[in-house]
Amino acid sequence: MNYNEATKILLEWYKHYGRHDLPWRQSRDPYRVYVSEVMLQQTQVERVLGYYQRFIERWPSLQALALAKEEEVLALWSGLGYYSRARNLLKSAQLCAATGLPRSYEELLRLPGIGRYTASAICAFAYDQPVVVIDTNIKRVLRRYFATTKDNGLWDLAKTILDTKHPREHNLALMDLGALVCTPTAPQCHECPLHPTCQGHEDPLAYSAPKPKAYEKLQLFLGLCIQDGRLALIPSTQRLYQGLLVLPPTTPDPTRYIATITHTYTRYRIKAHLYHTDPPREATWIPLNALDEAPISSLTKKAVAKFIQS
Ligand code: SF4
Repeated sequence: MNYNEATKILLEWYKHYGRHDLPWRQSRDPYRVYVSEVMLQQTQVERVLGYYQRFIERWPSLQALALAKEEEVLALWSGLGYYSRARNLLKSAQLCAATGLPRSYEELLRLPGIGRYTASAICAFAYDQPVVVIDTNIKRVLRRYFATTKDNGLWDLAKTILDTKHPREHNLALMDLGALVCTPTAPQCHECPLHPTCQGHEDPLAYSAPKPKAYEKLQLFLGLCIQDGRLALIPSTQRLYQGLLVLPPTTPDPTRYIATITHTYTRYRIKAHLYHTDPPREATWIPLNALDEAPISSLTKKAVAKFIQS
């Protein structure tokens, strides 16, 4: 069997077993594809589902998003992490509101926050253009399929098997195959439509991606001040949380200690020690019952929940 035959079986497999119910697969609107692909970067599908629905309900078009305020977008993004994604999405919407998202890969690459993956995903999934898409799942399938441990040259290898007549389905099929069959630790080769032509099926784990870098440990000392049912927050001065309101840093004082919480964010394992604190200067006071609509991080929400429990 050659790849052309295998690819037919792959598309057939996708027809029956693909994740067609994902909300962003219901539309080829480039804006919706764009929003979903940005949200899915380094974030699990299950986590994105609710955020995507709320985002699209609130801003159903590029033009609607372009009119939003950054703090509103960050508030809706709150808890999803990697907030620069939200800021860049808004900037791109403002740049393209009049013309719509570009159709060409090169022009998409010029927009803030759009890299090789997102540009190719928009071209393939929205415009059905014959481009290769490589996300984490597809990369794993390709490494095993071509029995290679090198990522250099993977885009070129991927082009050799691209189904140029059905690029959208082809890329989505590979993506779903990686998520459902060619999984990181337990690939189901006997159920895989690519098995007859896969060069790595005898020892798929030998071609797995290298382990991600270890987390960096970070200790924070944060102040909690709640008065009249409102929480005192300050604008973040850190790049990671740019545009968000955060708990003010404080000096450790055993007599004002509340609790310690742990939190993982991007490449950090954070240990945050919480202390009662006096109101910071220039505090922004957010009612506790409005925290869900405020531009704050999961760490802040976790700290408040801990404070309320203690
Ligand atoms: S045969 Fe096995 S290793 Fe090859 S693509 Fe399928 S699941 Fe992955």
